[in-house]
Amino acid sequence: METMTIGGRAVEGAGTFGVENPATGRVFAQAPECSPEQLDEALRAASDAFPAWRSDEGARRDLLRAAAKRVEDAADELAALITAEQGKPLADARLEVQGTVAGLRFVADLEVPREVLADDDQARVELLHQPFGVVAAITPWNFPVAIAGLKLGPALLTGNTVVLKPSPFTPLSTLHLGGVLRDVLPPGVLNVVSGSDPLGARLTAHPVPRKISFTGSVATGRKVAAAAADDLKRVTLELGGNDAAILLDDFDVDALADRLFWGAFLNSGQVCAAIKRVYVPRRLHDVVVDALADRARSVVVGDGTAEGTRLGPLTTRPQFERVSELVADALARGATAVTGGGPLDREGYFFQPTILRDIDDGVRLVDEEQFGPALPVLAYDDVEDAIRRANATHYGLDGSVWSADPERAAAVAERLECGTAWLNTHALPHPAVPFGGWKHSGLGVESGVPGLLAFTESKVLYRVKG
Ligand code: NAD
Repeated sequence: METMTIGGRAVEGAGTFGVENPATGRVFAQAPECSPEQLDEALRAASDAFPAWRSDEGARRDLLRAAAKRVEDAADELAALITAEQGKPLADARLEVQGTVAGLRFVADLEVPREVLADDDQARVELLHQPFGVVAAITPWNFPVAIAGLKLGPALLTGNTVVLKPSPFTPLSTLHLGGVLRDVLPPGVLNVVSGSDPLGARLTAHPVPRKISFTGSVATGRKVAAAAADDLKRVTLELGGNDAAILLDDFDVDALADRLFWGAFLNSGQVCAAIKRVYVPRRLHDVVVDALADRARSVVVGDGTAEGTRLGPLTTRPQFERVSELVADALARGATAVTGGGPLDREGYFFQPTILRDIDDGVRLVDEEQFGPALPVLAYDDVEDAIRRANATHYGLDGSVWSADPERAAAVAERLECGTAWLNTHALPHPAVPFGGWKHSGLGVESGVPGLLAFTESKVLYRVKG
């Protein structure tokens, strides 16, 4: 069984809980359930490790590079665990691990800025960025290793120590990550604990962490923010999205339909910043619907371990039920499933890639985050109307505009109310580029130098002269 990592040791849980393989719907492994006492121990270990860890930036860089190498060496084991518990095709799981390795290496080379604000006869004033101490990192189930890596790299480089808690649906790959790094990082620098949702609540309410870095749903993000408020902990929230793609009237279907399709269906639609609704000029609507439906019909859906699989199952039973419910509701309200429209007739949490037309704003599948392989394609007559509808939501993660004319596309993209607006593509993460959501989609950013600084307090160092 995978073990937790606490104070550099492998630790079994006070109890265990089952982890399902979504391709079968059956429990295939047990994971440790962390007791409140073990959580205390992990946080104590992280606190004890902090003074030495923060004191040597050069050593941190070297150790982050060594950590990246160790993750790279363990890529096959990590990818196999990701596919087993999360469901994505093995090739995508490998890409997830490779992206994590590249991200850790990128962060290891980043400079923590130290800025001279004034230097004159009276004073030399500098702006420093210093670590918080212990960071609580909480992750969701869609990219368990990649999202853990997005938090670990910057938190550790800036001198913090970490207690990391993965989703109870996908704990194994993160526990394994902790194991892989156990003898690379000094004891207590990275602790990994697993357990059901109340463990997350205990972690955020605990007095030790000074910063919470959370990725997950809006509903849980609210609870995390409320828990943080009590103690005025700093918090970064990366939450859900309902990204709109707006196609302009010169959209080149042949050239861009593949990219549009994968912008929505990668990871079976379980991507925070996936395209979740498409607005198409009425003249192009049928052509675009057909192009997307062709791709949805022909994509290979299956067990992530099977050769040739491009889309796996939904990761969790609740998510499978939710997508089934949202699609059934849309069909009941007059939508047409051009292809798909329901679960696949097989064991596991498989849902048919679904393209819906005859659907409008106001239907739950359009207004809510579906987080699954079911895409509504909506017609518009006037681009002003499309922009208004794209923005008429509490979400504000990403958006995209698709056109042969980059200037026209950029002019529309600038008016989207979201953290990132893409032109002719959607959601290509890069470790240098800050990523975050407006409105209910989040608070603060991850990645790039702004993401690094999110793991620091700023401090002014003021030296008087003379
Ligand atoms: P979730 O909110 O159910 O769970 C996320 C994590 O929070 C899990 O580890 C869970 O155990 C923990 N948790 C649950 N209750 C808690 C509490 N009261 N206090 C603290 N932690 C608690 O989310 P999920 O279903 O695992 O993930 C899917 C959601 O994540 C989607 O909405 C998706 O859009 C979002 N997401 C956002 C990003 C982003 O970067 N913006 C990235 C990936 C996923």
